[in-house]
Amino acid sequence: MPDLRVYSIPMRTRFRGITVREGVLVRGAAGWGEFSPFWDYDAAESATWWRAALEAADDGWPPAVRTQIPVNVTVPAVDAAAAHRIVTASGGCRTAKVKVAEPGQTAADEIARLEAVRDAIGPGGAIRIDANGLWDVDTALARLAVLDRAAGGLEYAEQPVPTVADLAAVRRATHVPIAADESIRRAEDPLAVVRAHAADIVVLKVQPLGGVRACLALAEQVGLPVVVSSALETSIGLAAGIALAAALPELPYACGLATAQLLTADVVAHPLLPVDGAIRVDRPDVDAAQLAAAAADAPTRERWIERLDAVRSIIAAAHRA
Ligand SMILES: [Mg+2]
Repeated sequence: MPDLRVYSIPMRTRFRGITVREGVLVRGAAGWGEFSPFWDYDAAESATWWRAALEAADDGWPPAVRTQIPVNVTVPAVDAAAAHRIVTASGGCRTAKVKVAEPGQTAADEIARLEAVRDAIGPGGAIRIDANGLWDVDTALARLAVLDRAAGGLEYAEQPVPTVADLAAVRRATHVPIAADESIRRAEDPLAVVRAHAADIVVLKVQPLGGVRACLALAEQVGLPVVVSSALETSIGLAAGIALAAALPELPYACGLATAQLLTADVVAHPLLPVDGAIRVDRPDVDAAQLAAAAADAPTRERWIERLDAVRSIIAAAHRA
């Protein structure tokens, strides 16, 4: 039985509909790994997350070809004043990723947020948006035009619409580059995006895609620029994203790995946070006191161990088949 710890850490701001981040940390011969699928991933979909954790714990990662990873600050769907503060306090990030398409918000809310972000980051900074696939094609094209103007130029738009066909339609009709995220990590066939010429950039996340090596192989098949993003992990999970970004042959864009600051605590002594807009390539060790402070209560622990058991039986059954 591997050494397993369940953590539970409140978020600073509600993000992706959650206010507390939870997951399992596993220790192996190579170090600690993190298994933290969101609850909208069922046991079968969570198998790749467990493979990524085991790769970290048992095998470690391929060698790095760089020592610093430029990262973006992430701006949730907050008001303009809060967006300005987040960018200003970002640790010198020269790229901002701004969440849009939040249910209940208007175009005016998004325009105000993007103007505030441009003001905070300055004329030389890059601004990208992420709609998490929540627009339809017509809304996406209308919003991209006004938000591109409000931002003083968008670096790219991440998953403006849900499907590969919709992404391709949007990409044909706008000059804003398109990045695919959900269409890669939750797709049966991540290469459909490439065949449909549906994206200029792909977002890769280590846990949902099954580990650093699996992502490197996919990046080679896709043949498009890669942005490595986190799944809102602790610094243990973030280190795997850093390892992927460090091992990619090319890294033309800032990565979405500066998310430790979205959590109110961490499980390492020195969280993977940006300095001068970049995170140093490093693999931090768990800090016993931080881990103890982040320990989940008994019912949460039980829920996660049950979940992990379900994932492991699915993987075992697949091996037998
Ligand atoms: Mg995204």
